[in-house]
Order: sequence, then structure tokens, then C-alpha cells
Amino acid sequence: MELSSLEARIKEMLPKEAEISKVSLEGSEIVVYSKNLDLLLEDENLLRALAAEFKKRIHVRADPSTRMPAEKAKEIILKLVPEEAEVSNIYFVPENGKVYIEARRLGLVIGKHGQTLKEIASKTKWVPELWRVPTGSSPALTGVRHTLIKHAKEIQKFLKKTGEKVYSEAKPLQWSRLTPLGGAREVGRSAFLLETNNSKILLDCGINVASRDRAYPMLDSISFPLDELDAVVISHAHLDHIGFIPYLYKYGYDGPTYCTPPTRDLGVLLMMDYIEVLMREGRDPPYGKDDIKEFVKHCITKDYGEVTDITPDMRITFHNAGHILGSAAVHIHIGQGFHNLLYTGDFKFGYTRLFDMIETRYPRLETLIMESTYGGPQDIQPPRYTSEKMLIQTILETVDKGGSVLIPVFSIGRAQEIMLVLEEYARNNEWDIPVYLDGMIKEASAIHTAYPEYMKRAIQRRILHDDSPFDSEIFIEVDKSKRDQIAEEGYSVILAPSGMLTGGPSVEYFKKMAENEKNTIIFVGYQSEGSLGRRVQTIGLTNGQGKEIPINEDGKTVALKINMRIETIEGFSGHADRNQLISFFKKVTPRPQKVLVVHGEEKKALALSRTLSRGRLEVDAPRILDSVRLR
Ligand SMILES: [Zn+2]
Ligand SMILES: [Zn+2]
Repeated sequence: MELSSLEARIKEMLPKEAEISKVSLEGSEIVVYSKNLDLLLEDENLLRALAAEFKKRIHVRADPSTRMPAEKAKEIILKLVPEEAEVSNIYFVPENGKVYIEARRLGLVIGKHGQTLKEIASKTKWVPELWRVPTGSSPALTGVRHTLIKHAKEIQKFLKKTGEKVYSEAKPLQWSRLTPLGGAREVGRSAFLLETNNSKILLDCGINVASRDRAYPMLDSISFPLDELDAVVISHAHLDHIGFIPYLYKYGYDGPTYCTPPTRDLGVLLMMDYIEVLMREGRDPPYGKDDIKEFVKHCITKDYGEVTDITPDMRITFHNAGHILGSAAVHIHIGQGFHNLLYTGDFKFGYTRLFDMIETRYPRLETLIMESTYGGPQDIQPPRYTSEKMLIQTILETVDKGGSVLIPVFSIGRAQEIMLVLEEYARNNEWDIPVYLDGMIKEASAIHTAYPEYMKRAIQRRILHDDSPFDSEIFIEVDKSKRDQIAEEGYSVILAPSGMLTGGPSVEYFKKMAENEKNTIIFVGYQSEGSLGRRVQTIGLTNGQGKEIPINEDGKTVALKINMRIETIEGFSGHADRNQLISFFKKVTPRPQKVLVVHGEEKKALALSRTLSRGRLEVDAPRILDSVRLR
């Protein structure tokens, strides 16, 4: 429906006294500006009727002429919100009529049944939007919030332009197809082009950090300029899904990127680090900091369960995927029931300490696109309690001999999962072993505390009660200057990224610790083909201790003798193992008619697709650039 008819219909449905001054489309949101905000806030039936009519929530804001001056409004807000809420910032954005309240205890800002929020809106005529202050500092998160405030005007303009495109007239649907541009029969650089005769969107746009010649998705294969792309949708913040987005903005794309709020913030943290690591190594990054900022300005965030129109014929909903903070399985409804697909992204269908398992029930489903990282016949993970016991035991054995344990981890996901295991053990047992966190682990953990509602109840409760497990005193944040000393002194656990020894502090520690047989390295996550992690892991699995491997030291290749103990402990992965992949497939409802297996090494993707193809179900592991017609 176009804006003019939309506006007419809304005015018709609301009483005259609501004094609607404007209806505007901001991204996929329909926003009604009123000179009588109180009337719309008090009578919930009015908005409910609108939501039923347009099948989506209608947002209301006060007409600018009725809003209280910012200074006065700030005073009122500080009076209404109790001091214990620890409000740290209040920003007024005239462009969208919102007041952004940043506080430690959001519950107290919201009030019982949202009473305080309602009062703020009613008294000041500014609509409150809440930002939780994390328990530790996060420059990335602060930077994102500043960008959103500082560029509010530009963002508002962009949202209107996007809204007009989303609500423009669509031609009758004739076809839809999916083309992998990366992340098919391989892990890394995930990117899938989804097209209809009306729309072109990209699902994920990642980087393979373990590869030089196959690092980026094959964007040059698409036959249209980047500015014709309608939207980008991101499943989660890992670089193999989000890492190449700023490149799109650098080369002409100026449309929206949809993701959950934690994905945006964690994504910025990882992208910043990615380009910094490249520059330190003397390599040219594919984009700069300004391009990351463009991503932030064009980011439209949605929580789980929010139904969002992203083009005239596509509607998406994010669902929990259980993989990392904010990770989403993306449900896409094309046309009025023309086709429905679910893109799982990376997912977990088993127990973890941080997250509930991936959602299995969807309204409609014809095509399932699922990952297969652990899709091979051997990829069965042990039960979690066995893995946790082994982890603790290996640590204790190592420190008893005076050695240290290096655990290379992704700074987001495995790091926090391992931290929770160690924190619980330390709480219930005698424990005096320092756990050093290097790289961005501490900051990534802090971002977790800004989004407790994205984690399991038990952790949510602890964070809300100022007892965040991530802030336990066993964890000590360290930086570059301490690395030599820590690697030498022994009797410690070191958590450091990157998780596959492809760069970053874990590689530094590894070089310093490898020759000492008292030390141990424990792999707890997936090691990609071609990564240093995979090479070291293989030495461990073939009892090759004492072997020398060539390694890069200040641009020269030198031999490093590996005397340290090498352990791989499976079971901590944020990915479903083979059994979980199969049971998810069996549980997901409704039953899909077609399954596309992606995000797995060739052998594993093929193995899983062979296992799943039974009966009349169409199963395929498409190759990059193999277009699959959906309908
Ligand atoms: Zn991932
Ligand atoms: Zn991935």
C-alpha cells in the first residue's frame, strides 16, 4: 500500500481528536505523528485495531510542536526515574521524536507494567528508547551509540527512503531463486543472493579469514551494480557472516542491513579488530573504519520475533539460533504465501550454558537452508559434562607441573562459554589459578551484559542482580605488554583469540609457549582447513610432539619445535554436531520440501545431504554460483 492511501486509511480509523499530523514510513515501520499522544497511549484498543488492519505494530510519536523542550524534559525524566536505575546519558533526537535513555538498570526505567515509560512519554511527549549500560567498558558499543545519535538526521532520511521502497508496488511474483556466492561446500565467506522478479537481497556477506585466495564472496559474478541490491540480512556477528559488509558500502551499496542489536555491536567490534590486525601485519584491508561506520548508519536492528517487511515482496523474522549472542535463524516469507524459507545461519541444537537451542517451529516452510560444519560421519561431539570434566582435568594436570594452558578461542562465543565453565568450577571448588583474557574477550563479554535478554534465564538473572559471571575475580584482562611474562611464568590459563591461530594474541602466546613441554594447548572450537590451528591439532592427533613446523616470524620463515601437550576437547562448539543437525532436521516444523546444505567442507556437506535425502524430499549441497530455483 502506498503512503498516501495508507495515511488516508489510518486517519479514517482513528478518532478526529487524535489529531494526526503526519504518517511516515521509516524503514519498515509505519509511524503516526499525533498532536494528542496521550489519547493514543491511553486507549490501547486504537493501536491494536491498526495493528490488526495492517498486520504490524504501528508506532506513535508526538507532533514536534507539542514536545517539551529537551532541558525541561530531561529534568522530568530524572525525577520520574529512581536514582538506583543509574541513568548515565539522555539524548534527545528531534528528527525522530525519541529520547534515548542509557541506564544500568533498565527495569527501573520501565517501571511496573511499563508505567514509568508511559509517564515519560505522556509528560514530555518524547518517546523513550532504552539502552542498557554494560558492566564493563566497550568502546565499540559506545562508538555505535554515538554514531546513531550524531548522524540521526542522515539516518532518518535513509529510513524514509527505505520505507518508500519497501512499500512501493510489486509486480506479480513469477519466480525466486537462491545463488551461493560463498560459504557453499566450504566454511567461510558465507553469502547467498536471494532474488525474485521484484527483489534482490543478500543473506550474510562474510570473509574467510583462513584463506588468502578464497577470502571474499564472489560479488563480481553478480550481473547488476551493488546499488540495485535491496537489502542485506545478517544471521550473526562472526566474520565469516558479517565481515565483508563494509566493502558493500565502500563500493556503492547504500541500502539497509538487517540484524539483531547484539549482532550490530559485536560485528563492529570484530570488523574493527579485523582491519587493525591486517594493518599490523602490513596487509591492505578491503575497507576502512569509515566504511564500518556506514554499516552502523545503515543498520536496521530487529529483535527475535519482530516481523519486518524488507522489500515489497519479502518479509523476514529473526529467531533464536543458539549459536552466539544475537545469532538468528532467518525466516523469509516471499509474496503472499509464494514461498517460505528458513536460513539457519550457524546454529546449536543441544545444551550450552549461554543460550537456548535453535527454534524449531515456524509458521510456514518450504525450503530449509542449513549449515553442516559438523556434518561428517565422524563429527559426533561427546556430552557436555564429559567435555567440561576433561577441560578442568587437563588444566589441573598442566598447572600442577608448573605449566600454563593456552586456549585459543573466538572472542565471541567459545570464550564466554569456557569462561562460564571455569567460573562455576572456581565458585564451587578451591581455585587460585589466574585466567588471563587477552584480545577482545573482555570487551565482547561486556557487550553480552548489555543484552541479558538474549541469554538463558539463569545468566540473565545473575547479570540483572549485579552478579555477572563474566566479572568474576578469576578473570584478569591483559594486554600486549604482559604477554612475555605470562607465557614464561606458568600456572595460569590463557584465553586468547583468534580461535584457529590465524592471527592475534593466541598466535603470539603459541610461539612463546610451544617449545616448553610443561605447557598445554587446548582446542575447543572448529579449526578451519589451512589454518595454523588445524596443523597443530593434526600433530596432536597423530602423536607428533617434537615435530618442527615452519612459522612466520617478522616476515621470515623459521622452524618452531612443538613440545607442548596438544589436546582437542570437543563438545564446547556453538555448532550442532552431526546428530544434532539430523535431529533438528527431523524436528523442524512444518516439514520442508527442499533442503539446501551449506556452510560445511565439501565432504561434510555432501555426507549430510546424502543422509538427509530420503523419500521425496529434495536435498542438495549446491556449489558456489549454482543457482537453485525455489519456485
Ligand atoms: Zn558463527
Ligand atoms: Zn559460520
